[in-house]
Amino acid sequence: MIQQNEVVELGHIIAGKRIYEGDVIPVFNKYTNEHIANVYSATEEIVKEAVANSVETFRSIKLSAKNRYDILMKAASIIDDLKNELAISITREVGKSLKDSYVEIDRAIETLTIAAEEAKRIFGEGIPMPSRTSSEKKIAYTVRVPVGVIAAITPFNLPFTLAIHKIAPAIAAGNVVVLKPAELAPITVMRLVEILEEAGLPKGFINVVNGYGHQAGEFLLHDERINMYTFTGSVGVGKHIKNSVGIRKVTLELGSNAPNIVHKDAQNLKEIAQLCATRGLATINGQACISVQRLYVHKEIFEEFKQYLIEAARGLVVGDPEDPATDIGPLISERQAERVEAWVKEAADDGAEILLGGIREGAFWHPTILANLKPKMKVMCEEVFGPVINLIEYSDVDEVIKEANDTKFGLQVGLFTSDLNLVMRASMELEYGGVIINDVSTYRSDWQPYGGIKDSGLGKEGPIYAIREMTDEKAIIINYQ
Ligand code: NAD
Repeated sequence: MIQQNEVVELGHIIAGKRIYEGDVIPVFNKYTNEHIANVYSATEEIVKEAVANSVETFRSIKLSAKNRYDILMKAASIIDDLKNELAISITREVGKSLKDSYVEIDRAIETLTIAAEEAKRIFGEGIPMPSRTSSEKKIAYTVRVPVGVIAAITPFNLPFTLAIHKIAPAIAAGNVVVLKPAELAPITVMRLVEILEEAGLPKGFINVVNGYGHQAGEFLLHDERINMYTFTGSVGVGKHIKNSVGIRKVTLELGSNAPNIVHKDAQNLKEIAQLCATRGLATINGQACISVQRLYVHKEIFEEFKQYLIEAARGLVVGDPEDPATDIGPLISERQAERVEAWVKEAADDGAEILLGGIREGAFWHPTILANLKPKMKVMCEEVFGPVINLIEYSDVDEVIKEANDTKFGLQVGLFTSDLNLVMRASMELEYGGVIINDVSTYRSDWQPYGGIKDSGLGKEGPIYAIREMTDEKAIIINYQ
């Protein structure tokens, strides 16, 4: 493990200037508990100043599509050169394995590259207007124009890439951004702002207000000069944002308790079990919004699959997240590990069987597999956000589709089957933003529209789709003689 000797000071960024004001929030290495940074919590004055500068920047500097393409591509290339430094930084502030952090960096490069390419193809459409006699000599077309100032509020679990999911399409579309990173993991995203500056992004295109949600975040919600909010985080905060910002645009990427279904005709059960164990228990230590949480397995293959799953989960290495062999590090805080412990205990007291795990050591929660579950248990109906898989036996397709849908969430669902009719039927009947066939729910590509329904969110990400959200379609109607 590389030692870090100094405590990094992370201020706010307004027009390129670093400002160190507000309450100090210490940031810790989540494995060693070493104090690695101080971040400042923005006051209302700082938030107002940041937004004022963003408005001024948006009005005074227009970057061409080619400029925006060049900046985003250059940023992707710098990130590629800094992979090791950035991955270690993420692992320290989040506690997830180095393997995961490298995946996050690769995703960031992909997002920036796609957003750069999309910057050059933001199209409107031509509209003939023959419907009314008075419109016969009119023709219309639309252009997509940037919405203006976008507030981006991001969570801790993929602190770098989830910020890029917002910043890259916003810049690609010609907007300016005020970013409020997660106070629990603000370090690597501050490097991102430096990287964008180095890539040529003019000052003011990204301003950063750091700090607590109830301070910096809340001040942002009440600044009427902000045109749009793009948020990734918990359902409670997402609903609060939606209720606070009136008729301004909002996109929300929230939580879930993703179901995954393994049907009796699924191929390669051992591999599927390994995939479920890795993506449900190891990916971000189970702290992914699309983590495999409710795993429905057909009764004809249940016992065989259960053995494979337990074996795969036993093989996951729990330990120092900076060790390249580690699969599972500590959760974001001991408090979160205690919450997971309480939920598992509550389920066990109500009759759930702990097939594996159920052990907490400080902030570590060991990979856990539960069976004999009831739908009302918290581990089933809420988002666990820790390495816990609920294994459930089912006997028919109608029943499993109904159970998978019987939730307040609707982000992504995985289905393993070789039956084409079931694929077609389930794709239509599963009430989710994304249905992943023959892979787990824990899959996201930047080419797809990504986002949930119900309490899982509103609006889509993926640069192509985020650009649509982050632009207004303006109609231009021409009257000719
Ligand atoms: P969180 O909601 O606690 O915090 C997210 C961000 O919101 C932080 O920056 C926080 O400071 C800010 N915030 C908190 N209160 C606020 C307020 N009143 N006003 C404005 N901002 C406020 O979430 P978290 O614990 O950091 O992240 C975990 C959650 O994120 C999980 O529910 C997970 O499912 C979700 N998530 C969703 C996706 C997705 O794409 N759907 C991806 C990753 C994480």
